[in-house]
Amino acid sequence: MPEVTPVKDWVKLRENVRRAIGALEVCWRCQRVSECQKYILGNMVLVWLCGGCLTEVHHPQCGRPQTRNRVPHFRKTVSPDRA
Ligand SMILES: [Zn+2]
Repeated sequence: MPEVTPVKDWVKLRENVRRAIGALEVCWRCQRVSECQKYILGNMVLVWLCGGCLTEVHHPQCGRPQTRNRVPHFRKTVSPDRA
């Protein structure tokens, strides 16, 4: 006899899928949609991070050397208003 999935199992499956989709977020770091966890950045900003990025954020020193904050260097062109 071939295995037939009973209807109630399908319903359960559908609920699981729906729950899984509900748990999905866009990762703040890599912009991929996956199951993310909340991470508080610098005790200030709440972001969502996937497992991989969460590990990297927790252990930034493993792998490549720590990169400094790259702030785009733009100077303010202070031009006096000539009205
Ligand atoms: Zn990520």
